[in-house]
Amino acid sequence: MYFDYLFNRFDYIVKQMKNIGIIGSGFSSLSAACYLAQAGHKVSVYEKNDQIGGRARVLEKKGFRFDMGPSWYWMPDVFESFYADFGKQASDYYQLIRLSPAYRVYFEDSFMDIPNDPMAIYELFESEEKGSAGHLREFLKKAAYNYDVAIKNLVYKPGLSPLELITPQTITHLNQFFTTISHEVRKRFKSKKLIKILEFPVLFLGAKPQNTPSFYSFMNYADFVLGTWYPKGGMYKIVEALESLAIELGVHIHINSPVDKIIINDDEVAGLVIHGKRMLFDVVLSGADYYYTETLLPQEMRVYSERYWKKKTFAPSALIFYVGLSKKIKGLPHHNLFFDEDFELHAKEIYDDPVWPEAPLFYASFTSVTDDSVAPAGKECGFFLIPLAPDLSDDKELHEQYFNDIIKRLEDHTKQSIMDFVEFKESYCVDDFKSDYNSYKGNAYGMANTIMQTAFLRPGIKSKKLRNLYFTGQLTVPGPGVPPALISGKIAADQIVKDITKNQKYEVNI
Ligand SMILES: Cc1cc2nc3c(=O)[nH]c(=O)nc-3n(C[C@H](O)[C@H](O)[C@H](O)COP(=O)(O)OP(=O)(O)OC[C@H]3O[C@@H](n4cnc5c(N)ncnc54)[C@H](O)[C@@H]3O)c2cc1C
Repeated sequence: MYFDYLFNRFDYIVKQMKNIGIIGSGFSSLSAACYLAQAGHKVSVYEKNDQIGGRARVLEKKGFRFDMGPSWYWMPDVFESFYADFGKQASDYYQLIRLSPAYRVYFEDSFMDIPNDPMAIYELFESEEKGSAGHLREFLKKAAYNYDVAIKNLVYKPGLSPLELITPQTITHLNQFFTTISHEVRKRFKSKKLIKILEFPVLFLGAKPQNTPSFYSFMNYADFVLGTWYPKGGMYKIVEALESLAIELGVHIHINSPVDKIIINDDEVAGLVIHGKRMLFDVVLSGADYYYTETLLPQEMRVYSERYWKKKTFAPSALIFYVGLSKKIKGLPHHNLFFDEDFELHAKEIYDDPVWPEAPLFYASFTSVTDDSVAPAGKECGFFLIPLAPDLSDDKELHEQYFNDIIKRLEDHTKQSIMDFVEFKESYCVDDFKSDYNSYKGNAYGMANTIMQTAFLRPGIKSKKLRNLYFTGQLTVPGPGVPPALISGKIAADQIVKDITKNQKYEVNI
C-alpha cells in the first residue's frame, strides 16, 4: 500500500516536470525561464542572435561599450521584487547608482535639471510657475496611490478577464481609465515646460499623453519619487544577472538558434524547428514579437488577423546613433531630453500622419559621465535617439542628415564643438529592428498602453487555439519597458504552472 503511494508520488513528480521551449532571450523570456526552472521544469531558451538580451544587447567598439536599447533604470522595486523571488537582490549582481540630476530637459531657450529628490522638485516647479508645487503634491499623491494599486493589484494579473480590473482599491478609481494623462496634467499646470516634463514619462508607454489613461500617472511617481538609477557597467549588467540566475537554476540557453517553425499536432503545439531540426516540447512560450510568433504557425492556428494588428497603436520605432567621442564633453549630465522643437508636430509625425520628422525631439545619453568603465580614458560614450513612426521606409542618407541636425543642436545648446570629435559612429533604425528582432513594423518597444490596449484588451498571454502555447513580452501584458518585461515573464510562467497543475490533477490518480 505504502509502496503504491510512493510510486504514484514519484510518477506524479515526473509527469509534473515538463519540457518547456522558450523563443527569444529578452527580459521577458529570461524572467519566465527563471520562474519555470524554479518550479522544477526543464527549460531551454532559443535566441536567434549571437547575444542574449533582446533589445537590451550591447555593442562594443574601439573601447566604447554601448547599451543598444534601454538606458533608464526606473522602478527599482520591481527589479528587487523579481530578485527576491529567488532569494537574491540586485546588489548580488551590480551596483546601482541614483543619478543626480535624474535628467536634464532642454527647451528652446533654456534647460531644467530634474533633481533626485521630490522636495527639490517642488521648489523647481514653484520657481517656474507660482502655485505649481501644491498642484504637484496633490498630483503625486494620486500618482503614488495609482502606483501602489498598479503594482499590488493590477500589473501582475494575466489579462484574461475584465474582472481583474475590479478590486476594492480600483473600483472607486475606474474613471482614471477614461480620462487621459494629458487632461490631468493640463488642468493643473499652465507652464509649457512643466507640462512637457510631466507628460514625458508616459512616452515610455508608447503612445501620446492624449491617448494614455490618467491611471498611468504612476509613471510620474516612478520618475520623481522612486528615481532614475544606473547599474554600474551599463544596462547589460541586468541581462548578465538574469543569465547567471537562469543558469544557476538549470536553464539551457542557446544563441544563434532561430526558431523557423512551431510544430502543431491537432490542437496543441508539439515542438519547434531550429536549423531544420525538430525539437519536441510539452509547452512552448514565445518572448519574440507576438505578431511574428504567430507567423510561425499555420494560418488557421493564428488568433489575430492582419487587420487586427494593423489597427493597433504601436510604440514608436527609432533612429539611434551609437557615438564614441575622442574627448570629454563639458557640462552635460547622463540623460538629456531635447524638447526644444515642436512636441505636438513630432507626435503627429509619429502617430497620426507617419512621416520622417521635420524637426524631431531627441534624447542623448552619456553613460561615461557616470561610469568610466564604458569608454576609454578621456573619451565619451554617447547614445542618441530620435523616435520615429513605425514602418517608415528606411534610408541611410537620411540618417546622416538627422545626425548632422541633432549634433548641431547639441553644439548650439552646450556651446562646444562635438562633430569634430566623433571617433566612432554607427546608426540603427527601422530595418535593423525588423531584421535583428523580427519586430512588427520595426517597432522599438512593442505595443502602446492606450485606453483600448490595456490589460485584458492586449493580445493574450495564452493562445486561444493551441492549449500549450503561451506568449510573454512587450506586446502582451502588462506592456513595454524592462520592469513590465520582467513582470510579463512572471505572469506567463505562473499561468503555465497553474495550467500544468490543473491538467495534472485529472491525469494522475494520487
Ligand atoms: C532603443 C530602446 C530604448 C529603450 N529604452 C528603455 C528604457 O530606457 N527603459 C526601459 O525600461 N525600457 C526601455 N526600452 C524598452 C525595453 O527595452 C523593452 O520593452 C524590453 O527590453 C522588451 O523585452 P522583451 O523580452 O519583451 O522583448 P525583446 O527584448 O525584443 O526580446 C525578444 C527576443 O526574441 C528574439 N527572437 C525573435 N525572433 C526569434 C526567433 N525566430 N527565434 C529565436 N529568437 C527570436 C529576438 O532576437 C529578441 O532577442 C527601450 C527599447 C528600445 C528598443
